[in-house]
Amino acid sequence: MKTAIITGASKGIGAFIAHRLNEIGYNLVLNYKNNTDAMNELINNFINKETKNIVVKCDISDFNDAKTLIDTSYENFKEIDVLINNAGVTRDNLLAMMTEDEFDQVIDTNLKGAFNCSRHIAKKMMKQKHGRIINISSVVGLMGNSGQVNYSASKAGLIGMTKSMARELAKKNILVNAVAPGFIQTEMTDKIPEEIKMNMMKNIPLQRLGTPSDIADAVEFLISNKSSYITGQVLSVNGGFYM
Ligand code: NAP
Repeated sequence: MKTAIITGASKGIGAFIAHRLNEIGYNLVLNYKNNTDAMNELINNFINKETKNIVVKCDISDFNDAKTLIDTSYENFKEIDVLINNAGVTRDNLLAMMTEDEFDQVIDTNLKGAFNCSRHIAKKMMKQKHGRIINISSVVGLMGNSGQVNYSASKAGLIGMTKSMARELAKKNILVNAVAPGFIQTEMTDKIPEEIKMNMMKNIPLQRLGTPSDIADAVEFLISNKSSYITGQVLSVNGGFYM
């Protein structure tokens, strides 16, 4: 039975990926930071008890917390097959108004958090001589977005990190790819005013927002045997919004 660590699994895309990987038989290490109610709901209602699943509540933006996440995972499971660096936050503001704290919080979680987890798992995956790492980037890491200087920088940074990690780790049979979602219906995008969403929709050739299930499909492919010759790539899942 394979095992996956998913950061930011308490809700949204992370929770959906957790549900999907559980459905296809994965043991899970579920990480989150604050939302214990949402994590309990996921565990109680959506996770099949036949697999072994553990929850590690910690802040992946903290180097030592991320080490605890990876160490706890290896204490509970002999090998970890997949790491999904999914945890992310937004602190939107226009550049001229953005505070240092808004910039730092987003970079620390979205970019440094993925570094922290990947850094701590790298040697262990190298030793086991296999692994898949998926970084959840974003369409705005490819095209930029007004009001998201911090967020788009973090997501563009993840793409560079993905490619460098893929080059470094390929000889140890560790494949590293990014998924770049477009606008996906979650709490993160619920914050966007309806009028702006309707305008966005006009620019999406497939004429709908994405669903967490669309992202889980891409992740499922990238951790499967069907993608064993794919590394260092960015798989865009955005309804054609950006080509
Ligand atoms: P979400 O619903 O806001 O969920 C974010 C998750 O990240 C929560 O489980 C949260 O845990 C966790 N988290 C935040 N900071 C953390 C930290 N420091 N340590 C550990 N966990 C932390 O977001 P989402 O929409 O599902 O987004 C998931 C990922 O997809 C993010 O990386 C996001 O940037 C990316 N993405 C989303 C969209 C979209 O349209 N929704 C588009 C492109 C990319 P707690 O709630 O427990 O704190």
